Amino acid sequence: MSGLWRASVITLYPDMFPGPFTQALAGRALGEIWSLETVRLRDFGLGKHKTVDDTPSGGGVGMVLRADVVAACLDSLGVDDRPRLLMSPRGKPLNQARVRALSSGPGVILLCGRFEGVDQRVIDGRNLEEVSIGDYVLSGGEIAAMAVLDACVRLLPGVMGKDASGENESFEGGLLEHPHYTRPQSFEGVEIPAVLTSGDHAKVEAWRRSESLAVTKQRRPDLSGAKDR
Ligand code: SAM
Repeated sequence: MSGLWRASVITLYPDMFPGPFTQALAGRALGEIWSLETVRLRDFGLGKHKTVDDTPSGGGVGMVLRADVVAACLDSLGVDDRPRLLMSPRGKPLNQARVRALSSGPGVILLCGRFEGVDQRVIDGRNLEEVSIGDYVLSGGEIAAMAVLDACVRLLPGVMGKDASGENESFEGGLLEHPHYTRPQSFEGVEIPAVLTSGDHAKVEAWRRSESLAVTKQRRPDLSGAKDR
């Protein structure tokens, strides 16, 4: 399996995987271009009940994943040069630049939180990078981990066809993508913009660029491509 982009997912719910990764582009590439291993956090639980969590210090509702259990699980993977990411709504929002960097590395180790989250001492002690997939709260890190994996895997060389490199997509160059059209020529009385059927590639490119800029300025003025133009 050496040479593959390696993903290890630490989770209390390993049966959620490979889940969507049996399908489509990522599914076809699984085992060929990338590998996916799940690590069962429960196996590192304590005592007869394989306990992985405990009540929050200082009181309050919910449970917290124990630092010693999570550390033992992470350490069982040994040392390699893959980044270790903790899925967390408190993390840095994931963006396409980080996805590109991750996909051009050796792979990732993803830790899926549950309950109220993970004891801070293992986050600090194992130097985990906290990553959020958006400003909302999921019930667990597994779906967030799937989002990270999907975004990374599609960029691995050979996963997408050579005509779809991902280089002109939303967020590349700090811009959202231009709108798309395809046949029929007329849909409910609305025609495809004439420039797109003109055959003039320079004009098509210019139109796409200007649409891309306009939609970015309107919807995402925070993106770098919308500024200073
Ligand atoms: N108490 C936490 C808080 O308020 O920040 C929320 C915990 S959430 C119910 C349980 C787990 O889901 C988290 O530990 C994390 O692994 C995952 N999770 C939830 N929302 C997420 C998001 N937006 N991005 C990444 N992971 C998320």
